[in-house]
Amino acid sequence: MKVLIVHAHHEPNSFCSALSQHAKAELEKNGHTVIFSDLYALKFDPVSDRRNFTTTKDSNYLKQQQEEMNATANNGFAPDLESEIQKLEQCDAVLFSFPLWWFGMPAILKGWCDRVLAMGRVYGGAKLYENGIGQSKKRAMIIMTTGGGPGAYDGWGMNPAMQNLLQPIQHGVFWFNGILPLEPFIAWSPARISAEEREQFLSQLTVRINSLLEEQPIKLPPLADFPNFGSDSKSRYQVVISRKSPVDEKYKSLIPAESQVMKELKREGLLLDFDMSDSDDPEWRAFLKMRASDDGELKKQLDRLPLAPYLHFDITKIKPVPAL
Ligand code: FAD
Repeated sequence: MKVLIVHAHHEPNSFCSALSQHAKAELEKNGHTVIFSDLYALKFDPVSDRRNFTTTKDSNYLKQQQEEMNATANNGFAPDLESEIQKLEQCDAVLFSFPLWWFGMPAILKGWCDRVLAMGRVYGGAKLYENGIGQSKKRAMIIMTTGGGPGAYDGWGMNPAMQNLLQPIQHGVFWFNGILPLEPFIAWSPARISAEEREQFLSQLTVRINSLLEEQPIKLPPLADFPNFGSDSKSRYQVVISRKSPVDEKYKSLIPAESQVMKELKREGLLLDFDMSDSDDPEWRAFLKMRASDDGELKKQLDRLPLAPYLHFDITKIKPVPAL
């Protein structure tokens, strides 16, 4: 397998750089070929303008996507772009390695996306989502370091949920191009933890790298579900769950398996949102937003929950409304 690592940290001795080098070494140990794009070492220019091209379609008005189509037809990408595009075309998997900056990727990596993901050559026309350059075969993983800890990004902290912050990459860059996104690997606050804890992150990364090919990707909806680029053809449901009887020992023993199935439903794109009241609340409720083809499929998914026999499901089909 050929793996492209796009690395964006300016300090070679940083922990972020150590993670990317560790990923490279592990992949090579497993017999894979690694193409390593160290963007700072390459002095990669993130500014997208006419320097992207050796050809010109319209010298009076720069319309990037039009110039990209023209460059695609006339072999007109600047050598630094051509080289990166070829790396992307040839790889089976891509890893983005970066520190979280201003809730997103550093400008040099954003510039790589802005310039390398060129219309015509990489995406556009029929080349989108499952039909994109990744063809639902290439896979991708984010390897990221942060300043803040997980509690600040779990959806209840002061910052937005990390899953939402990473959507522009997971959905907008990877899946938009047919590249299957894997769970991100996040080394939280490496500058504020012990050397042993950093070692643990490196060991955890070894495990993730070794299962890079087998891991189940996060399932995001295919373009086929949205006829003519319109609304979702699948239905959305609000499910309010209550307990049929008080919690007993058997119920408690099933909670870990229940959490596991919930995680699977989320990864499979069937569970869109989830909240619940305090487990000790006598009026305990859980609130699920689900996506399913029809009522039958929804019930089938809910029946996967190990606790289903103990629960009552109050199901409402939700009408699509414009985003607020
Ligand atoms: P480093 O400080 O480089 O490394 C931590 C420690 O690991 C160092 O002591 C280093 O010596 C040690 N180390 C290096 N190699 C190894 C090794 N092999 N084994 C063990 N230890 C090793 N954070 C947020 O949470 N949200 C934001 O929005 C955000 N925005 C930012 C914007 C900017 C412009 C900047 C500069 C920072 C921002 N940060 C933010 C913080 C940033 O995400 C963190 O500083 C960064 O991710 C920490 O990772 P690092 O690799 O740079 O750590």
